[in-house]
Amino acid sequence: MTSASASFVGAIDQGTTGTRFMVFDRAGQPVGSAYREHRQIYPQPGWVEHDAEEIWRNALVVMAEALSCAGLGLGDLAAIGITNQRETTVLWDGATGQPIHNAIVWQDRRTAARCDEVKARGLEESIRGKTGLPVDAYFSATKIEWLLQHCRDAVKGRRILFGNIDTWLIWKLTGQHITDPTNASRTLLFNLDTLDWDDGLLRLFGVPREILPRVRSSAEVYGTLRPDACGDHLDRIKAAGRSGETPVAGDLGDQQAALFGQAGFTAGEMKNTYGTGSFLLRNVGAVRPPPRAGLLSTIAYALPEQPVSYALEGSIFITGAAIQWLRDGLGIIRSAAETEAMALSVPDTGGVYFVPALAGLGAPYWAPYARGTLVGLTRGTTAAHIVRATLEAIAYQTRDVVEAMLGGPAAAGGLPSLRVDGGAVKNNFLCQFQADVLGVPVLRPRVEETTALGAAYAAGLAVGFWAGLDDIRRLWQPERTFGPVMSAESRDRLYARWQEAVQCALGWRAEV
Ligand code: ADP
Repeated sequence: MTSASASFVGAIDQGTTGTRFMVFDRAGQPVGSAYREHRQIYPQPGWVEHDAEEIWRNALVVMAEALSCAGLGLGDLAAIGITNQRETTVLWDGATGQPIHNAIVWQDRRTAARCDEVKARGLEESIRGKTGLPVDAYFSATKIEWLLQHCRDAVKGRRILFGNIDTWLIWKLTGQHITDPTNASRTLLFNLDTLDWDDGLLRLFGVPREILPRVRSSAEVYGTLRPDACGDHLDRIKAAGRSGETPVAGDLGDQQAALFGQAGFTAGEMKNTYGTGSFLLRNVGAVRPPPRAGLLSTIAYALPEQPVSYALEGSIFITGAAIQWLRDGLGIIRSAAETEAMALSVPDTGGVYFVPALAGLGAPYWAPYARGTLVGLTRGTTAAHIVRATLEAIAYQTRDVVEAMLGGPAAAGGLPSLRVDGGAVKNNFLCQFQADVLGVPVLRPRVEETTALGAAYAAGLAVGFWAGLDDIRRLWQPERTFGPVMSAESRDRLYARWQEAVQCALGWRAEV
C-alpha cells in the first residue's frame, strides 16, 4: 500500500465532453489539473457514441499532465478516485481488453422504441418499484441489450464484460471488474431494496449476470494500479514521488460525486449543478424514499459497513444550454460571461418569460413534446430582457424541481439552503435570483470542481487520508452566500406567472 505520508489524493472526472484529472491536498484544495476532450460520434440522428479506448488513453494523458504540472509523481497520491458520466455503456472482451463496439452514451435514443414496447406491456410501474427509475433509453439496460443483439459475432465464445465508464476505467487501471451502487442504480437493472442486480430485470433485458461487475461500496480499495496498465504515459511520473502501489479507491457517478463534494451527507441537504442542464440531488437518508412524481430515486453513496444513503434526483435538460442558444442560435450575446451585466442593465424582464423547453421539458414535467416558448413580448422588449428572462428561467426551473422534492415551497421551511456548483454559477445575477425565487440562501463553495472533489473525498476516506465524513464536512467553505432579498409577495407573483408560461410551452403540442 502507498506510504501513509502521501500528501495528496487524485480524481479522474470522466465526463460526457472530456476527461479531467485533479489532484487535491489534505485541505481539499486543488493543486493540479489537466483536461482533454474526446470525440463525439454521431452515426445516425439520435445516436451518440464514444470510443472507450480514446477515453482510457485520455485518462492516462491527463493523469500524467496534472501530476507533472504539480511537480508530483504517482507515489505522492494516497489514492485515486473515479467519477464518471453515468449510464454510458461499454462492453468489452475480458481476455483482450478490446471494446466490442463504441460506448453507447446516455444521450443516445436508439433504444427508445424498445422502451415503448416494455411500457406497452404494462411493466413500467413494477420496474420503477424495483429501480426507482422510469423505463427510458437514457439508462443502461436497453443499451446493453442492443449491443448484445447487434454484436452477436463479436460476443460469441468470448468472456464479455459490461461496465459504465467507472467500471471500464477501474478494470483498465486495476484488472478488477467493479462498480459502486451510485452507478449501478442508473442501469435499470439494480434493485434499490436488495442492493443487488435484479434477476427479473436481467431476464427481461436478456443480460447474463456473469457480464456484470461486482457491486462494492463507493469508498473502498478496489485494487492497485497495475504496473503494466499505463504504458508509456505514466513512465515519467512513476519515477517521481515515493515508491509504492497506488490504490484505486473511490467510485461515484458524477451527480452523486458533486453532492459528496458539497459535503451533502445529512438527510435534507440538496445541491444543484448548473451546466448544460441542471441536476438537483437531495440526500434523503438511509430509508428509500417513496416515489415522487417527476423525480428519480437513486443512491447518493454507499460507505463500507454502513446503510446506503438514498437521494431524490431531478434533471432539467436545458439551462446553461439556453445561454449557448442565445449565443449560437439567436446571436444576441457573444459570450456566456456577458449575460450577467446584460441582465443587470434592466430592472426586470419587462414581463417577458422564456421557457427553454428546447429539448422538451425534463423534471418535474417529463414532457418530451413541449417546445421553447417566449411570452410577454412587446415593442419595448430588448435583447437584455430576453437574456434576463433566460437566466431567470434557470432559477424558476430549479424551483419547480425543489417544490416537487419538498412537496411545497422551500421558503416554507423544508430547505434551509441550496448548495450550487457547475459552470453557470459564476453568474452572480443567477445565484442572487435563485436565492430570491426560492426564498432561501444559495451557497457557492470555494472549490468549484465539486465532482472531482467528491471522488477524491471517497478515495481519501477509503485509505484513511481523511478520517470520516465530519473531517470532510469541516473542509467545505462557502466562497459566497447569496441571501434572498425579494419580498415574498414579489416572489410569489413572478413564480405564478412563470407557471403560466410553462403551461403555454406544455400546451403547444401534444406530439411531434
Ligand atoms: P457541462 O459540465 O454540462 O459541460 P459546465 O459545468 O462546464 O457544463 O458549464 C457550462 C455551461 O454553463 C454552458 O452551458 C454555459 O452556457 C454556462 N455558463 C458558463 N458561464 C456562464 C455565465 N457566466 N453565465 C451563465 N451561464 C454560463
